[in-house]
Amino acid sequence: MESIFGQTLVQLENTLESWGQKAFYGSVIYDWIYQKKIRNFQAMSNLSLELRQALEKHFHFQLPVIHVRRDSLDRTVKLLLKLEDGFLIEAVLMRYNYGNVICVTTQVGCNIGCSFCASGLLKRQRNLTAGEMIAQIVVMNDLLDAEGRKERVSHIVAMGTGEPFDNYDHVMNFIRIANHNKALAIGARHITVSTSGFPEKIKQYGHEPLQINLAVSLHAPTNEIRTRLMKINQAFPLEKLIPAIQDYQTNSGRRITFEYILIEGINDQIEHAIQLAALIKDLFCYVNLIPYNAVMENEYRRPHPQAVNAFMSKLIELGINATVRKEFGHDIEAACGQLRAKHKHEETR
Ligand code: SAH
Ligand code: SF4
Repeated sequence: MESIFGQTLVQLENTLESWGQKAFYGSVIYDWIYQKKIRNFQAMSNLSLELRQALEKHFHFQLPVIHVRRDSLDRTVKLLLKLEDGFLIEAVLMRYNYGNVICVTTQVGCNIGCSFCASGLLKRQRNLTAGEMIAQIVVMNDLLDAEGRKERVSHIVAMGTGEPFDNYDHVMNFIRIANHNKALAIGARHITVSTSGFPEKIKQYGHEPLQINLAVSLHAPTNEIRTRLMKINQAFPLEKLIPAIQDYQTNSGRRITFEYILIEGINDQIEHAIQLAALIKDLFCYVNLIPYNAVMENEYRRPHPQAVNAFMSKLIELGINATVRKEFGHDIEAACGQLRAKHKHEETR
């Protein structure tokens, strides 16, 4: 059986047609699930008994179980969710003044193995399905409903554990469902995928017929420093990455975000800001500076706030848009990879 939450409308319509049913019922089913929030095919009273039974045989409504929930003073909610096969994944909800942003996990573990990242400590065990990504939003929306506020998840960042472009097709189906106005209706401009930098996938993403956003984890202005932080830079160095981003920009016309973790003494010096500005000056972009979160026992340290500000000011002086990322959930270990790392001993099935 498959999760009904992982069905794009086109997939659902094709399945219905293969059963000799009218494709039109796909929208009717979406309406029951996403607008009326009904999670039982038998209750879908305007469908024939035969169709309801066929649906029941093929699809389930199962959601991951909340294994741990942490609520922060800034109202960040972090969930450790248990999947059907026992793997634990994180999902985080952050309350910005402009909306509720969910940080979605796309894989169990990650194979990219960046040296600063707790998520990559566990090698990729498997890709998440589109249904398992949608389920993270459905579970968060249920929590918001339970709070009694008329709020819902309004923005998505694919920045949890995993490399989204190493799971491209499932991630794109997830986005199609999240964005569909008969499903979660989250605006394409409110959806951002973050990648460690797969050039071919970046180009492909630029051809998607949706106004979705791209964030690239750059973290260094030179190959030397980048390879030290991200071993993927050996396979895809800046000479391949930057042209792919240019190609993406030509096709999509969209501004891209560069994520740049600032690590003391490694990539946070003024000379690095100057090199960075030179590297990206011809791109329509902005830089999101992320002071390093100490999540592991390694040599990396967070720079002093003055160093962060000096780096940002230098970029701005050189004509690059830059901001320091607002941080959430410090008191609940909600920052990148922290909670799952803490429950690492439970990661077995
Ligand atoms: N794999 C994708 C998306 C998930 S990582 C990618 O790398 O882009 C999302 C962001 O969290 C990345 O920019 C990553 O560099 C950042 N991150 C990971 N570990 C971090 C840490 N310890 N401190 C601050 N940011 C971190
Ligand atoms: Fe994977 Fe992203 Fe972490 Fe690198 S930063 S190990 S790509 S999740």
